[in-house]
Amino acid sequence: MNMTGWKENVRRVEPYTPGEQPKDQNVIKLNTNENPYGPSEKVRNCAMDYDLLRKYPDPAASDLVNTLALYHHVLPEQVFVGVGSDDVLGMAFLTFFNSDRPILFPDITYSFYPVWAELYRIPYRTKALTEDFRISVSDYEEKNGGVIFPNPNAPTARLLPLDEVEKIIQANRNVVVIVDEAYIDFAPEGSSALSLVDKYDNLLVVRTFSKSRSMAGLRIGYAIGQKDLIACMQAVKYSYNSYTMNRPSILYGCASVEDDAYFRETVGKIISTREWVTKEMKELGFRVIPSAANFIFAAHSTIPAEEIFRKAREKGIFFRYFKQPRIDNYLRITIGTDEEMHAVLDFFRELV
Ligand code: PMP
Repeated sequence: MNMTGWKENVRRVEPYTPGEQPKDQNVIKLNTNENPYGPSEKVRNCAMDYDLLRKYPDPAASDLVNTLALYHHVLPEQVFVGVGSDDVLGMAFLTFFNSDRPILFPDITYSFYPVWAELYRIPYRTKALTEDFRISVSDYEEKNGGVIFPNPNAPTARLLPLDEVEKIIQANRNVVVIVDEAYIDFAPEGSSALSLVDKYDNLLVVRTFSKSRSMAGLRIGYAIGQKDLIACMQAVKYSYNSYTMNRPSILYGCASVEDDAYFRETVGKIISTREWVTKEMKELGFRVIPSAANFIFAAHSTIPAEEIFRKAREKGIFFRYFKQPRIDNYLRITIGTDEEMHAVLDFFRELV
């Protein structure tokens, strides 16, 4: 008897590899685009009623949904929340990408997209970024089953101007276009596709609390679109897991959104550190892709990225390195505190 017959029926997937989470807390950790500043005081001072943990949370996470709706000037029916934007994106793939035609996304992008496509058996085709890592709008004008891209893109950090984002949405009115705005709060004001949501019923904008809100450890993400789009996602969510948002996430998530001053202050600090580090790195011989995110993507003119990555790691400085065609000479460096970035620049100076 064949005792391993079950193996023929396994859904085999090549999983996404998240950045390393070193146990040692004394390292300079610039490899997963976390925020170097803690969450707001409002979050720290929240009183969690532990007795309530015996009860299921509100399956609709209404407090958080209403808070986000108010913040973004949309209706609560236009907001979908999930366990980090990965959960929201995974749910969106499952909900909207059901065509026999391939979905389209850039060749260099968030490496989770092909993983979800494989998991859900969605055909996909990648579109090459230009030599300087720009998205070409005309690549997204052919017939397809849906479109997704991050803006700013990851790991390149490059922003696609809003008028070009709109052209992609306009060219794809019969499919859903997902704009993954994980890093948009670090981009110039007016860059977000949220301003287009009322105009286009095929646009879904996805956001996260993990970067600009400094809450990667809590896992909160959300999507905003027109009511019909969100209702379709809700139906899929309630067919899979009703209670995605736990009570602490709902409570702390609301508190974070309510402290807009702290949010703006920390985002502003990260942007000015980014500009300073970019300038210094260029002077040290790095090619730095213009960044609209909380990380920079850079290659040195003479020293291979893999070598810099390895030597930095030995010194307790963690960057992200992708051994992947076209970008294997680049490092993705998260913006840390000024103190951390001084240490990074000292390390670079020693190296070159
Ligand atoms: N989208 C992009 C482009 C990202 O880089 C990340 C971070 N890995 C995510 C989505 C997911 O972030 P989270 O699940 O923490 O919200």
